[in-house]
Amino acid sequence: MSRRSKNSRNKKPRLEHFNLYENIIRITDRKLGRIVDVYYVNHEMYCELCETTECVHTGYAWSVYEHYTEKC
Ligand SMILES: [Zn+2]
Repeated sequence: MSRRSKNSRNKKPRLEHFNLYENIIRITDRKLGRIVDVYYVNHEMYCELCETTECVHTGYAWSVYEHYTEKC
């Protein structure tokens, strides 16, 4: 009788943009259950958690960054 099927359509994305500072993009990682800071330095994204510029977080940070920069 429920009009909403809670379980079938409850696919939240793993990563969610949490906050954006001048050089830091803060991302919520649901899988890890924590917040990940990605630093934008020297035209690269650096993930403080994975200690690399190429991971799922930096990839997501790029999409957030581009989303914010293209609206000017
Ligand atoms: Zn990472």
